[in-house]
Amino acid sequence: MRMVIKVGTSTLAHSTGRLNIRRIEHLCKVMSDLKNSGHEVILVSSGAIGMGVGKLGLSGRPTDIASKQAAAAVGQCELMYVYDKLFTEYNHTVAQLLITGPDTENQERKANFENTLHRLLELGVIPIINENDTVSTEEIEIGDNDTLSAIVSNSVGADLLVILSDINGLYDKNPKGNPDAKLISVVEHITEETFLLADGKGSELGTGGMSTKIKAAVMATKNGTDMIIANGADPDLLYDIAEGKQVGTRFIKER
Ligand code: ADP
Repeated sequence: MRMVIKVGTSTLAHSTGRLNIRRIEHLCKVMSDLKNSGHEVILVSSGAIGMGVGKLGLSGRPTDIASKQAAAAVGQCELMYVYDKLFTEYNHTVAQLLITGPDTENQERKANFENTLHRLLELGVIPIINENDTVSTEEIEIGDNDTLSAIVSNSVGADLLVILSDINGLYDKNPKGNPDAKLISVVEHITEETFLLADGKGSELGTGGMSTKIKAAVMATKNGTDMIIANGADPDLLYDIAEGKQVGTRFIKER
């Protein structure tokens, strides 16, 4: 199975903004094992700005563009250093791909990106993809990694897109503030009502919230790929997902 796995900042970092070492180590171990068992793994990882903030010792997430991009430049380096180190422990090679909006829209750039991605998979490499936050401005940005992960999933013709978040899946209302919220295990068809379930921006560190995840589900399922939202706090869930067990919320492909 070819799996695209997206991890959000809320999965990778503590509430302090600093790296959650136990979590990322566990994630890399499970993904390495999945690869060893014959699956292809492509990782879409957020977390560059958060890591940069930590490394630079800034008091909080910067608000001006230049400082954000500087933090991303420092943090992306650190993020890849950590991934490279951890995957190397399990004898896997990683590659970094940083893209922006035009890379997914301009035909020639898109073809280049896709050819590289396919070649990396043939070479047995684990591609790690992020938006190129150091050059992205509002006009050209993809904007959030949920959308980026759906673009990547469509580019590689993934069998499954897994979005790991700080929550078990999509609920019938936002569980933060609604303790009676119920998990929706399967979404057969995404409708306007599905979008109405998503409430607000999400966590402090995250960017997209649920609505960008549902948008990503529309893109993936239209292209013939199932999408799962699951809790990144327990990376072992990826084993269950690979075995086809019911985990989190599964959006069923349209064709
Ligand atoms: P990530 O950083 O993993 O992308 P986000 O913080 O962007 O995570 O999105 C997940 C958050 O979306 C949850 O923590 C939750 O507070 C919020 N949310 C809003 N509506 C819903 C809903 N209907 N079901 C589940 N979560 C919801």
